[in-house]
Parts: sequence; structure tokens; C-alpha cells
Amino acid sequence: MSVPQTLAEAISCLSDYDPNALPVARAREIIDRVVVPVEAVERVALRSALGRVLARDIASPIDVPAADNSAMDGYAVRAAELVADAPTTLTIAGTALAGRPFDGVVGPGQAVRVTTGAVMPAGLDTVVIQEVVRLDGDRLTVPAGQKQGQHRRLRGEDLARGKPALCAGKRLAPADLGLLASLGFPEVPVRRRLRVAFFSTGDELRTVGEPLGPGELYDSNRYTLYGMLSRLGVELIDLGVVRDDPDSLEQAVRIASECADAIVSSGGVSVGEADFTKRIMAKLGDIAFWTIAMRPGRPMAFGRIGRASYFGLPGNPVAVMITFYFFARDALLRQMGAESAPLPLVRARSLSAFRKRPGRTEYQRARLALEPDGTMSVRSFGSRGSGVLRSMSEANCVVVLHHEQGPVEVGDAVDCIAFEGLV
Ligand code: AMP
Ligand code: MG
Repeated sequence: MSVPQTLAEAISCLSDYDPNALPVARAREIIDRVVVPVEAVERVALRSALGRVLARDIASPIDVPAADNSAMDGYAVRAAELVADAPTTLTIAGTALAGRPFDGVVGPGQAVRVTTGAVMPAGLDTVVIQEVVRLDGDRLTVPAGQKQGQHRRLRGEDLARGKPALCAGKRLAPADLGLLASLGFPEVPVRRRLRVAFFSTGDELRTVGEPLGPGELYDSNRYTLYGMLSRLGVELIDLGVVRDDPDSLEQAVRIASECADAIVSSGGVSVGEADFTKRIMAKLGDIAFWTIAMRPGRPMAFGRIGRASYFGLPGNPVAVMITFYFFARDALLRQMGAESAPLPLVRARSLSAFRKRPGRTEYQRARLALEPDGTMSVRSFGSRGSGVLRSMSEANCVVVLHHEQGPVEVGDAVDCIAFEGLV
């Protein structure tokens, strides 16, 4: 874990820092250096751990499986008793079912009927599947060609006692809950939930349910933010709409910094508005105002207020989502204590041309589709306006046009990030 740095220290590591034309990768580097994981750990019941961040490495307390057992329905035999190139006839000594071991003694020339998961009777090392044997009363004929040890799972084969099962930092998924259950854990240590305060800024905003006056619009950002933050599994503190006046902003930021680990706001950071925001933020915390070399997005504030990290996202509804996904999301995951994992890129053939000049990162709303020939294609949407939320709702991915990338022709391969799984 890197030592927490002040914003100034994090920025001073960069030789080419320009707050007015900051590449996406640079902004991400700075953010990554400044945010720190929460430390507190709590134990929660296994089911409540879904989506939470595992706080400690988990070693297996048992061998999985706990004993050698049959992988198939069939007959357990001693391989050494089988004739190599001719059928062998054995007698059946009994039956072992899953959960009901055979507790008799298996004498020479004997076999035991086994079902999948049944513990291998003592002394038997090989399973012959039921489909190939011939049965005549209690006499069993096994064809030649069986391999010693076949269709048998060994004790500890999946996970030996003491071996690492899960590493700290894992966000627990359904398979992990199952794995932890298979090891017998009724509860697990997880990091405490991150508390995130969020609010919208703007005199023009109304909350749903209120009538709209002239020039007003509904505050949608608090709903997209609610959705994205909820899916991250953080504890939400909704501070509502904050009016564009210094006192209201100062009060909201103070409340937020006292009760939250991270603060996310939308609006109020664009050039026309930044001046009074800057003044207040400078008074309350350690904040940088950036123009990021990206589209949509561009204006963004980042820093620390008290112990809380602060993400001042732009007001445009699409820009809010894109900056959340590509800056705030990773940082919040890091604060949650989660291991960082780059978002998976899907490579797809573009059915659209994109105008693009090197020197900024673009995130184009698009739709990924599976073509009849089994390849992935991607088609851009008509609307590129950063305020058009509908296109975000209709899209199923963004095409990432990287910083150095130039124009894209129809048929070129491009990188896409699918929304499914993003948060
Ligand atoms: P700002 O960054 O505050 O200048 O806002 C940029 C644009 O986004 C303006 O057209 C705002 O009206 C719009 N906007 C800002 N906040 C919100 C919000 N919470 N919901 C919907 N639109 C917003
Ligand atoms: Mg505004």
C-alpha cells in the first residue's frame, strides 16, 4: 500500500502537470496516489458479505474434498487386481453413496458400487464407470483398459488445508460466497462500508415531484449517482440539491466532510462557475481544479476535504456518468479496500467512423453486438451531446478512443467497455 500523499506531493511527482490539459491517465495517477483505503474491519454473516470487500486473506481450514471420492457413478476397484488385456470378474462387497461411506472390509477380488461423491472405500483406488461393466447377480465384469486412479477425486485436490482460498481485497461475488461456505465459514471479515455523501449543485434544479418553473429542469444527476454508488455497495448520504451560493455550498461540504469518507458532487466546476466554488473549496480543503483532455467530461475538481476525498464532477448528465466511471469508480473501490482491476476491454470491429484527433481521450456511446459470424461489432450513436442522457440509457457500451489515437475508419478494431458489469 502506498503512503498517503497530499495533493501537492502527488502532483509534484508528475513532470508534465498542466491542470488545463490533463490527460486522463495523469488524473487517474494523481487520484490513485491520494486516496487511502478505510481500515476498519467488521465480521458479517456470509450472505451479507455479497459485494463487500474481503479484509483478510482466507486460508482453507480443511481439505476440499475432505476424502478421496468417486467422480462418477460406477464401481470402485483395486487397479492392481485388474487383468491388463482381458476382462476381470470381481464380486460386489457393498455400496457407498455420497454421504454414506461403505464401512465394511473389501476383500481380495471384490469391488464396491459407488455413486458420485461417495468416499472411496479403504484400499480401492480406481472407479470403473457403470456404463462399461457387465453385471450378473453380484458378479461384476470389468473390461480391459482401465487406468489406475481414474474417476477418483483426491482428498485436498480442490484446495488443501492451509492453502490460500481468497485474498484480501476481493469484492465477494456469488462464487466466493459458495467457496467460503464450502470451507465452513459462517461469517467473514470485511472492510467497513465506505460512506459517500453526494449532492447536486445548481439554482436551475428541481427535485422530482416539484413543479418546474421557467428555465428550470429536474435534477437527474443525483439519481444516476445514486444508481452508480448503490451498485458499488457504499453507504449513501444524499445531501440533496445545493443552491449556487457560497454559504449553501460551504455548509453542504462541511456536513459531507464530517460524516463521509468521500464526497461526490455534480455541477459548479465549469469555467463560468468555478470561481466561487474554488474560493470555498480552497478554504475547506486541498482541491485541484482540472480541465481534463477528454470528451465528454473536461472540467473536474479533485482533492481532499478533511479526511474525505472529494470528486467535483461536471454538471452535464452524460459527463457525470463518464467521469464517475473513469475517475471516481476506481478511486472509491480503492477506498473500499478493493484490489484494483482494470476494466475489461472488448475489442470490436467498428461499423462507424469516428472523427478523433490525438491528444484527448474520448468515450463514445455505442452499441456492441454479436455478429452472425461470431465476431463483435460496435456501432456509434448519432447523438454526441454530453447532456443527452437518453443515449446513455440506450447505449450498452462506450467506445474508448485513447489519448494518442487518431480517427477511426469503418472496419477498424476499437476498444469498448461494456456497461454490463461496470458497476
Ligand atoms: P454546470 O457544470 O453546473 O455548469 O452544469 C452544466 C450543465 O449541466 C447545465 O446545463 C446544467 O443545467 C446541467 N446540470 C447540472 N447539474 C444537473 C443535474 N443535477 N441534473 C441535470 N442537469 C444538470
Ligand atoms: Mg451549475
